[in-house]
Amino acid sequence: MLIETFTGGQFLQNGYLALCEETRESVVIDPGAAAPQIVANLQNTGSSVTAIILTHGHFDHIEGLHQMRECTDAPVYMHSLDTDLFENFPAQAAQFGVQRDALSLPDKELKGGEAVTFGRLSLEVFHTPGHSPGHVIFVNESEEVAFVGDLIFRGSVGRTDLPGGDSKMLFDSIQKHILTMPDHLKLFTGHGPATTVGQERDTNPFLTGNFMDNNL
Ligand SMILES: [Zn+2]
Ligand SMILES: [Zn+2]
Repeated sequence: MLIETFTGGQFLQNGYLALCEETRESVVIDPGAAAPQIVANLQNTGSSVTAIILTHGHFDHIEGLHQMRECTDAPVYMHSLDTDLFENFPAQAAQFGVQRDALSLPDKELKGGEAVTFGRLSLEVFHTPGHSPGHVIFVNESEEVAFVGDLIFRGSVGRTDLPGGDSKMLFDSIQKHILTMPDHLKLFTGHGPATTVGQERDTNPFLTGNFMDNNL
């Protein structure tokens, strides 16, 4: 799996392109402010997009969706529990002082437990609520990669003070779906640099105990 990272916007949000090099089929993950770079990459490489998959429905992870859809007919997948957030895209945008039109709804609802296949590769979907109700992560254990959205970051965890956030659920999700994975598995995060399960297990202050009871 070839993975490219595209960072943009005031939140330095990471969008990703994951490519099956054998078939040149790909998935786009969280097309945010860097969507123009993703579109340019697709046009330059001639890769086809099998699906646009969303870890969650926050503004910064979907603000490039309209542009992605203009360049590809690929269906959009998102967990149904983030539909409210998604429908509130114009209101989310307004909170950041930006005016945006509503987005047409995702084409397919994720539940967790399914797999998204592109070329000869696939990503398993796990429902990981806490940062948002319908947050999911996408994992390929044999390729040793996971796209974890805003569940966990290098040295930090996703905020839970936004509507639908839940601190206990966030830590349950990390416990169940991150800390059970092998140490060398690489985590591609929604913001900031990539990390590994082992590095976070050993050094993330929110997981080593120091900040567990803080008001996150
Ligand atoms: Zn978020
Ligand atoms: Zn984010």
